[in-house]
Order: sequence, then C-alpha cells, then structure tokens
Amino acid sequence: FEQGNAGPLVAAIDQGTSSTRFLVFNAKTAELLSHHQVEINQSFPKEGWVEEDPKEILQSVYECMERTCEKLTQLNIDISNIKAIGVTNQRETTLVWDKETGEPLYNAIVWLDLRTQSTVERLINKTPGRNKNHLKHKTGLPISTYFSAVKLRWLMDNVDEVAEAVLTHRAMFGTVDSWLIWCLTGGKSGGVHCTDVTNASRTMLFNIHTLDWDPELCNLSVHKQHFYSSLKHQTDMAFYTVFLCWVFLCLQCLGDQSAALVGQMCFQEGQAKNTYGTGCFLLRNTGAKPVMSDHGLLTTVAYKLGRDKPACYALEGSVAIAGAVVRWLKDNLGIIQTSTELEKLAASVGTSYGCYFVPAFSGLYAPYWEPSARGIICGLTQFTNKSHLAFAALEAVCFQTREILDAMNQDSGIPLTQLQVDGGMTSNRLLMQLQADILCIPVVKPSMPETTALGAAMAAGAAEGVSVWSLRPEDLSEVTSEKFEPQINPEGKGHVTHCYLISILAVPICLNTDLQ
Ligand code: ADP
Repeated sequence: FEQGNAGPLVAAIDQGTSSTRFLVFNAKTAELLSHHQVEINQSFPKEGWVEEDPKEILQSVYECMERTCEKLTQLNIDISNIKAIGVTNQRETTLVWDKETGEPLYNAIVWLDLRTQSTVERLINKTPGRNKNHLKHKTGLPISTYFSAVKLRWLMDNVDEVAEAVLTHRAMFGTVDSWLIWCLTGGKSGGVHCTDVTNASRTMLFNIHTLDWDPELCNLSVHKQHFYSSLKHQTDMAFYTVFLCWVFLCLQCLGDQSAALVGQMCFQEGQAKNTYGTGCFLLRNTGAKPVMSDHGLLTTVAYKLGRDKPACYALEGSVAIAGAVVRWLKDNLGIIQTSTELEKLAASVGTSYGCYFVPAFSGLYAPYWEPSARGIICGLTQFTNKSHLAFAALEAVCFQTREILDAMNQDSGIPLTQLQVDGGMTSNRLLMQLQADILCIPVVKPSMPETTALGAAMAAGAAEGVSVWSLRPEDLSEVTSEKFEPQINPEGKGHVTHCYLISILAVPICLNTDLQ
C-alpha cells in the first residue's frame, strides 16, 4: 500500500483465553497492517478453578489498541481511516459487575473452570430421567460446567457482593464481549450492555431457534427474575456507533470460534475449520438449519451478519485442553521454557515410544461430556523421557481432533476431505504433520494465521453503514496457504484406536472431592 494512503481500515479486538490482540487490516485487501499482543494471566485458586482478572483483560485491550495505533502512526498510516472494529472473544467466560461503580464483583470465571460440577449435578437431577441433554432441543448444548448459566448461578450463590448487587438491581452479567463493549462505550456513564447471538448461544439461557433469551432456561438455572430482566435489555446484535478515543466507529461482536469460521471463509454448508488455541474447536457450517448431533457434538449459532440477515448454524466439537497442555508442561512440569521449544523437543525423538497422554484436566468435553474425568499419562518405561512426553502431548491434541472429526463425519454422513486450521498452536509444524497423519486427510493452514481477528474485522466491515467488505472471498487478495499431506498409510488408524481406548479409560477416573 502507499504509505499514508492505506484507504479504509478495519480492526479487531481479539480477546482470547491466553492473550489479547488488537489488529488492523486494509479493508480492501485484508492485508494485516499492524498489531499488538499482550499475554493474560490465569489464576488457579483451587483445584479445578480457573479465573482471570476483568480489569487486566480491559487494560490489555487498551494497551493493545494504543500500541497498535502508535505503530500505524510510525508507518504514516492515518488511524482515522479505521471505519469499524470487530470484537471477538473467549466464549462462555462469565463476569458480573456493578453498573453504578463500574467495578467487577468477582474475577471472570473462565470457560474451563470446573467449580460448578455440583451445580450441574443438581440441575441434571431436576430434569425428567436425569437427562444431561434435557435442554438440548432449545440450546443445542448438554448441561455442563462449560456454559455461562451455571457459572452465574455459582456467583449468585457463593459471592455475597454478587447476591447483594442482584437484590439491589445493580448487578450486570455478561460474557467477555459484554464487559468490554460496556466499558468501551462509556461504562458507568451509560455504557451499552449487549451481546451477540453467537456468544448468547453459549450461555445455556438462549433459545437458538427463536434467537432470544428463554424464560424457561433462565428460570431453571438462574431463577432470579431481575436477572432475566437485565438479560432482556441486552440486544441480539451489537451495531453501535461509539466514541473510542479518537473517532466514531461501528462496533460488531462475534464469539472467537464463529469469527474463525468467518475468517476462514467457511460460508458454504459443509465447510469446516479447526482452531488450536487454549482448547481446540472444530466447527462445521450446517447452513440455515440447526442440526442436532447424535454423536456428542454441540449445535451452535455460527454467525448472523446483520440485523436482517438469517442466522447460520454450525455443529461444534469442543476439546477443552489443547494449547493448555503446552502451558502445563511449561508452568507445572518446567520441561520447556517457551511454547515454541516443544516442537524441537518432540521432534528430537519423533515418537512417544508407547507413552499416551490424555490431558483431561477439565473433565472431557465432546464427545464424552464427562466432568469427572481426569488426565492420565500411561505406557511409561524406564526409557521414557521428557521428549517422549512432549511428543505424546502433541499426539493427544491430534487424537482428540480425530475423535471429533469421526463424530462430525458420522453426524453429517459426508466425510470431510481436508481440514482448514488456525490458532496459536498451528505454528507448530510437527503438530500439523501429525494431525494430517492421524486424520488421514490433508491439513490446510492459511499463511496469515490471524483468521479469528480477520473474521471479526470482516464482520464489522460488513456491518450496516460501513460496507467496506462484501464477504466474498474473490474480493479479497489471494489467500495463500500451506498444505500438510498425510504421510502414513491407513493402517496407522490402529494406532488411533489404541488411543481411543485410553481416552475412554480416563472417563471413570474420578476424584471424589467436592470442587465447591
Ligand atoms: P487463545 O485464543 O485460546 O488465547 P491462541 O490461539 O492465542 O489461544 O494460542 C495460544 C496457545 O497456543 C497457548 O496455549 C500456547 O501454549 C499454544 N502454542 C503457541 N505456540 C505453540 C507452539 N509452537 N507449539 C505448541 N503450542 C503452541
């Protein structure tokens, strides 16, 4: 681009579980012009608990925006050309704050958190036939620790400040998108309290058919009528003109996995992508119709790109632990100093030597939905060393994806012939090759890895009144990618079956501790 004349720009706030990024793209070519990233601390106050500080999350957004704008100014690019900002975020993570003081009333309870295991059991006990899929026909979800409603219930029952704020009508509930947008649009001086259908569909309070909050769901898990009222004031889409430091902008939000689906241009029914971040999420576009899974997958709202546009749905296979196992090897075992070292360590042996690792740190998500499962490492011998463990950790991510892909193929009846991938872990080339080998189909990685942010920026750009992007792949500059072809023959599948058995073995490993 000509310096100082980059034309209209579109930006994205990408607030993930591990880090926050702010990225600015050329709205015509999708070229990434500048970005900044800040790591987010996680705390683990008790076994199974995972929290993040809402103020640190907000501060990281401001820092990323400021640093990116400084970089753009140094490139002689006029930041007033930013026409829209997309907000994309870790889904399900739950916050409650005081609308009068603007202060969070507790840490954000992260989606991975397991403290609500007994809340979930209580809810399941209330359903006819103790059926964890009792709400699936409305929500597309099993009753699980994963979703926001049970986290909100826990906050109301266990945090005095939250209970008090609920009684005095000062409590605001939201996922990370709601918190950020409320703060960015003025906070206690009149911030907008809203969310979008993709984030709402992960609360377990939202009917994915009517695209509205559902009184029965709210009564079942949250009970409090005034909370329901405040939910009702949230709008279903966020098209707001806001004042962000320097200019009026259009703001649009989308859950991170939806944004990645859009960023990978999976607009056709049957197209799919797998994102390898803290967890791992395979989404397959099922078009205008929500498809209910018979094989343990979720049904979710994929995107709705405009007030009058129809909703598009997806089948989703969620794996709780992917990149998080790398962080665990680094922070808990200390066998690597940085995530990138893992590839070198694993490649130095090229095999796990019969060692298997099922990192069920937060129970098992799809297709098992078993919160009491715990991680195991097995097949150890005197010969096993940290390199084999590193290799087994990478294989674990691939095996879990294989299980999801098999479920997805069975549900849709049409096997995927290649897998589009993205996310922080895809910089690990050994992982990508292993994944192609274990799936027995090619794995295709775009050369511009920030597809989640691109999808959010595209959605914002396509919003009413901005129209810098038409969302037609042919309008964007050529998308280049790298393809990893499978290099083992189909007999390699025997290897896969072996791991499946181990995965199932992990399910009954239950710690009889009450995480509450
Ligand atoms: P999120 O969106 O969940 O915050 P990202 O897509 O930013 O996640 O990816 C970060 C995750 O990827 C971290 O858990 C990190 O451990 C993992 N990761 C990053 N680089 C590598 C690598 N080279 N090899 C393996 N894992 C990696």
